[in-house]
Amino acid sequence: STAAEAFVTLATTDSYCMGATVVARSLRRHGTTRHIVAMITPNVSEQLALNDVFDEVIVVDVMDSEDYHHLCLLGRPELGITFTKIHCWTLTQYSKCVFLDADTLVLCNVDELFDRDELSAAPDPGWPDCFNSGVFVFRPSLHTHTSLLHHASRHGSVHDNTRLHGLRINWEILCVGFVSVLLVLQPQLDMLELQVCSCRFGHGAKIIHFLGADKPWSSQGNSSYSHNMEQFVSLWWKEYLIHTVSSAPAVQ
Ligand code: UDP
Ligand code: MN
Repeated sequence: STAAEAFVTLATTDSYCMGATVVARSLRRHGTTRHIVAMITPNVSEQLALNDVFDEVIVVDVMDSEDYHHLCLLGRPELGITFTKIHCWTLTQYSKCVFLDADTLVLCNVDELFDRDELSAAPDPGWPDCFNSGVFVFRPSLHTHTSLLHHASRHGSVHDNTRLHGLRINWEILCVGFVSVLLVLQPQLDMLELQVCSCRFGHGAKIIHFLGADKPWSSQGNSSYSHNMEQFVSLWWKEYLIHTVSSAPAVQ
């Protein structure tokens, strides 16, 4: 029998847990047959709520790991989140996984991603020779995990294809438009928003990645979104509030 496959996300703060909840709910809404796993850090207080919506919630304390002390504290302590994300390669109870940032929203069934191999991802809208690490297909492996930690501690990231090639990980581009990157830097930036988007809005996007400082959960009532963005932000809120309302005790 084949080992299980899983979608994996990461939340190190309660705000990112809001996002992680929407990731899981939107995957379930579209009928995934795979496990849905959250990696969280011990400071997160939303663990119980996440247990309801995830198949597995794994507490990772990367700051306590030997890797962290050997590699990160030797000069690059700002790499904490990157290192925590790389921790997904330790989930060797799964044969293949798809990582989704907590700021993504799944618009349809995306189980076809498991037909792809390590490492599949979408190009970064700003730096197309690098992949955007918001969505990627990978194979858990402790060997790869260690290699990536070394790589990240030296280079500060793991997005560069040329350097990753040395690790014999070569990323393949997912179908153009599979992941649509929504980026808001400033108000009135419709042009830039279109420019950085990997496809035209509404045409074939299967996953929305709310890249950048402005996340849906930090933007209720925010008027800086264009109409195109707004439809996805309100879809995000709809998914979040459905969850919240259905799990709240009945009001007398
Ligand atoms: N993340 C987290 N806590 C943080 C920052 C990031 O858990 O304080 C996780 C979360 O899964 C998030 C991912 O790391 O989606 C990458 O960060 P983010 O999405 O904010 O970066 P961007 O995609 O905007 O570059
Ligand atoms: Mn992101």
